[in-house]
Amino acid sequence: MTLEGKLLIGQQAVEGSRVAIRAINPATNESLEPGYPGGTQADVERACELAWAAFDDYRHTSLEARAAFLEAVADEIESIGDDLIERAMVETGLPQARLLGERGRTCGQLRLFARTVRAGEWLDVRVDPALPDRQPLPRADLRQRHVALGPVAVFGASNFPLAFSVAGGDTASALAAGCPVIVKAHSAHPGTSELVGRALQAAVKKCGLPEGVFSLLFGSGREVGQALVKDSRIKAAGFTGSRSGGLALWQIAQSRPEPIPFYAEMSSINPVFLLPAALNARGQALGEAFVGSLNMGAGQFCTNPGLVIAVKGAALDAFMAAAAEEVEASAAQTMLTPGIFEAYEDGVVTLAGNDRVREVARGRKGEGPNQCRTGLFAASAQDFLASEALQAEVFGATSLVVECSGVAELAKVAECLEGQLTATLQMDDADLDAARALLPTLERKAGRILVNGWPTGVEVCDAMVHGGPFPATSDTRTTSVGSAAIFRFLRPVCYQDMPDALLPDVLKAHNPEGLERLVDGRREG
Ligand code: NAP
Repeated sequence: MTLEGKLLIGQQAVEGSRVAIRAINPATNESLEPGYPGGTQADVERACELAWAAFDDYRHTSLEARAAFLEAVADEIESIGDDLIERAMVETGLPQARLLGERGRTCGQLRLFARTVRAGEWLDVRVDPALPDRQPLPRADLRQRHVALGPVAVFGASNFPLAFSVAGGDTASALAAGCPVIVKAHSAHPGTSELVGRALQAAVKKCGLPEGVFSLLFGSGREVGQALVKDSRIKAAGFTGSRSGGLALWQIAQSRPEPIPFYAEMSSINPVFLLPAALNARGQALGEAFVGSLNMGAGQFCTNPGLVIAVKGAALDAFMAAAAEEVEASAAQTMLTPGIFEAYEDGVVTLAGNDRVREVARGRKGEGPNQCRTGLFAASAQDFLASEALQAEVFGATSLVVECSGVAELAKVAECLEGQLTATLQMDDADLDAARALLPTLERKAGRILVNGWPTGVEVCDAMVHGGPFPATSDTRTTSVGSAAIFRFLRPVCYQDMPDALLPDVLKAHNPEGLERLVDGRREG
């Protein structure tokens, strides 16, 4: 498939007029054709105008029509075939198997949202019928459902070029909610973005939807991204990336005359607690498995285990020895972009240069450009507690082991942590009391608490939470993965004493959609 290097605004392909962005193959540092001239404020304006014009029609589509659209997007992405995987490989340095898996996840999540839309539970229909004879005051007829917020801006993530980019989780959940979407493509993979953007365009056309349901803009975050978040027709935004970028955009979203929800997923070091009995019983196996998780995707996962916390002693020594051996044998891996590689190197140099930190092991040096060497470092709990800098995320395959004097100090470390996407307990039955004592702290700190697993690998399902307190995300109440992500783009509306003829179908007396509803405090349907 020939790439055109154009913005996709509604059904049009439009030539940008700013400096062209070119993807760089991180494995060779070669720049890739075509160039993608960036968009301007006028392009943002046009995309927002179309999205706003599409909003009322799109949000009123039937559950079936919207679900069929999400399935059509998945079908269109699959029909691109190998071209998509090949382009994503050269733009990201990620291996074929990972990208095939990611395409499966992307299409799977679009289909999960189709199922969610059809089921209709997200409408959260509540009916409190009138009680005209109630004393001392009668009750009005009150009916509630959720409606879409409005057009949503999505910032594609660098580290998931498919599953968290143009048709990724933010886009799928916003479209499922009934919101048109305008994507600001990540500049690291514009060709992949164009291919997926065209699949979305084709699905919009095939399903007969208004063209403004989807647009894709290329260009700089400072021009295109900020203009999008400022536009009064944008009613929410989703972002995955750096803490500084997320906070800058969040600030803009909150400073608008009409502030809007800005869902940023930013920074998490995903602590792993090795509880004493588990560490004693299987320190070596834990050390080996931990490095497997640390090295996944060159550590470029938001759920990468960047912190290990354990009580020092012979069992931790066995863990460290096994982990060090695995780290030293780890091959260097190409990172996503030269910028991300530089940020990784800077982070490792800062960590290694901290006089409270000692180097435990480094992985093998790479021969090509932008290759990340795995790193394992250690610090005492006292030093960790005294230095906020040791909590900074090093995005890549580096982790810090915090050595505690006892279980009480381990709890102190847990208490001082910032908000996290995940917290992991490695534990045996004899650790139950220690785990029980930690749990209230971990619930306050993390969105997902795992036992005897590793945080990398996020299932896309109904019960998943990929979120957590700041700085893991900017809104601790939500998840960006799984079907509950739809709630980020909805708000409740209550209809009081509205005649049946005026009510939306899902609220009508005879329940034509056959949805389960909460009627006078009881589940019905
Ligand atoms: P990024 O620099 O935050 O960029 C993400 C997106 O936001 C890009 O589209 C970028 O636009 C835009 N942007 C950034 N700062 C902005 C600002 N001040 N105003 C408007 N738009 C802005 O993230 P990245 O490029 O993916 O990676 C950089 C670093 O982010 C990594 O080294 C890593 O530390 C961190 N990161 C963390 C996670 C995580 O899950 N925790 C994931 C990915 C990255 P441009 O096109 O202009 O750059």
